[in-house]
This record gives sequence, structure tokens and C-alpha cells, in this order.
Amino acid sequence: MLDLKSMTPEELSDAFAAMGEPAFRGKQVFQWLSRGAQSLDDMTNLPKSLREKLRDTAVFTPPRIARKQVSQLDGTIKYLWELADGNCVESVLMRYHHGNTVCISSQAGCRMGCAFCASTIAGKARDLTPGEMLDQVLFTSLDAAAPVSNIVLMGIGEPLDNLDNVLKFLELVNRPEGLNIGMRHISLSTCGLVPGIRRLAELRLQLTLSVSLHAPDDETRSKLMPVNRAYDVETLFDACHDYFRETGRRISFEYALIDGVNDHDWQAERIAERLRGMPAHVNLIPLNRVSERDLRPSRRMDEFQRLLERRGVTATVRRSLGGDIDASCGQLRRRAMERSGHGEAAERSIRRGDV
Ligand code: SAH
Repeated sequence: MLDLKSMTPEELSDAFAAMGEPAFRGKQVFQWLSRGAQSLDDMTNLPKSLREKLRDTAVFTPPRIARKQVSQLDGTIKYLWELADGNCVESVLMRYHHGNTVCISSQAGCRMGCAFCASTIAGKARDLTPGEMLDQVLFTSLDAAAPVSNIVLMGIGEPLDNLDNVLKFLELVNRPEGLNIGMRHISLSTCGLVPGIRRLAELRLQLTLSVSLHAPDDETRSKLMPVNRAYDVETLFDACHDYFRETGRRISFEYALIDGVNDHDWQAERIAERLRGMPAHVNLIPLNRVSERDLRPSRRMDEFQRLLERRGVTATVRRSLGGDIDASCGQLRRRAMERSGHGEAAERSIRRGDV
């Protein structure tokens, strides 16, 4: 079967040429899909013969809204999408003065195992296809009647653990015939998969790289983030410094402050040392409490920010949107899984669309 939504106009043209259709049909179909066409019959300028051929050979099932929550505080909307095979993922639409941003998922679940994160509790079900990432942007925008100017790959999943599909998604979303969203309007967040960071550096993409740091020392970071046992703090920062040298792009470091765990004075100092020689930005995030996890938000947000600033590190306390709707990573999917049981059983039932 052809996964039409994961294909570039050129790839579509090639596939259609093989069916004896003229090449320009590729661009036509790409444009229909980029506008959110839901069935072949929507594609009115395609000859009936091609539509019939595609009916048997192509898939492009749009995601279904399994749940939707609208924040009464700031208009943030959170979507739980059910994909064609019953797996569910989340996206969040955030409204900022500079435009609308969609935060999308890159995998159904996650295998990185971070101690504070809801998305990883039941492990990874599967990678998302490029088309499934694109659909989250497209159908969020259509449902909310909100043009999207920025994308963040910061939802469920680890984008660098699904890098080929993420790169293809970036190409698709970038296309002028499609959503035409420029690389500078896209951010990608990683827990620190060093080979992926190095591959991105080689490609010199103009996107913004966010690194989820959460601790500047191996002892704390390995406890919070198992990925640190494979790529330790020094290896990670070597890759970050090289990334900056290669791309000239300033990296953002995410840091969720956790009471008594990563909010000590010496840790602020250590962050500053690690960042020496590289312009960077530290985003201090209030820890979102996840019921399965026994970690508490730090009470030292402002103090920690001042400690960093005093050492020459640009740091901001992230304004939290959607505080009334579980709008942080993986929480909505998790709730849906809880409603239908726990762990494996819950994963199975959510795949059946039982939410
Ligand atoms: N896998 C990628 C992207 C998804 S997570 C990554 O690790 O960066 C998006 C961000 O939310 C990451 O910075 C992650 O560490 C953070 N996060 C996850 N759970 C959180 C929680 N309970 N409170 C605050 N931030 C959290």
C-alpha cells in the first residue's frame, strides 16, 4: 500500500508515472492532502480512473479526535488523536502573540524511560510515520480554525529515536506546495541521543534544537534519565558544542526543576560551567506532577534563575499554558489508558480505540 501522506510531490509523481498517469498528478494530490482532503472523492480534479486505482493501492486515513480539551484560561487546545491502527497520540495548540504553535508527538509512547515523564510509563508502541506527524499539524490547524506558524516536536516520543521519519516530516511540512513552514519556525526536543544530534548537525538544518538537560551531573541525570547511561553529560555537551559550531544555532536547554533533586546551588554553577563558550538558553520548567511519580516541583524557580543569570547564563521561567487541561506531555493519553485499566492491558485497549 502507498502511504500517500508520507510522500513528497516527486515521489507521488513517480508512483503515478508507474501507473501510467501523468507526472503533474503528484503535485495535485500533494496539494489536496496538504489541505486536509479526507477522501479520494474530495480530489475533484483527478480523473475517475486514477481515483479508482488509488482506492485499491493507497491509504491516507485521517486521524480521529478521540478527546479534545480547551483551556478556559488561555485557549490552549489539547487533542488526543486516534490513528488508523487504534494507537493514540497527543498534540497541543498554543496561542502566542507571535502566532499559533502546535506541539506534536513523534512516537506512540516512548522507550526513553525518564523518571518524571508520563509518556514513557507504558513504553513505546511504535514510531509515527511522516504523514502521521504532518496530520497532527494539519488537522489541529483545521479543527481549531487557527493558522499554524510554528511547530514544536515536543509531544510524546523521542524524535531522534525516529529520525528518518522526522526528517521526512520536516521536508514535507517545509514544502511551499504544502504547509510551507520554514525550518526557523520549528523546534525539536531531544532527551540527548548523541548520534542523532550529530546527524542533525551535519545536515545544518536551521531548526531550533532543544536538549532536555534536567541535571548537569551524571549521578542525578542518570537517575532521572536512563539515556544518560549511554551518553553521559560530557558526551552530550561535546555534541552540543559541536552542534553550535557546525550550525551557528543557539541551543535551548530544558530544565524541569525538581524539589531537592536538581535545584541545588552547585547544580546551577555546574550548568554555567558546561555552557561556557556557547551561547545558549536555559528554559526552567515547573515540574508537572505525574501521579505515578513521586517527584515534587521545586520551590526555587526564581532563585535558580537568578543563580544562572548571575553566572552569565540566559535563563527564563517558562510560562505554562493550559494549566487546567493536563496539557503537558503524555498526560492525556495516560488518563485515557488509566480509564481502561493499567500497563499492558491499557495499552491494548487504547489500541482498540477504547477511550
Ligand atoms: N523526548 C523529547 C521530547 C518530548 S518531552 C525530549 O525528551 O526532549 C518534552 C519535554 O517535556 C522534555 O523536555 C521533557 O523532559 C519534559 N517533561 C516531561 N515530563 C515532564 C514533567 N512531568 N514536568 C515537566 N517537564 C516534563
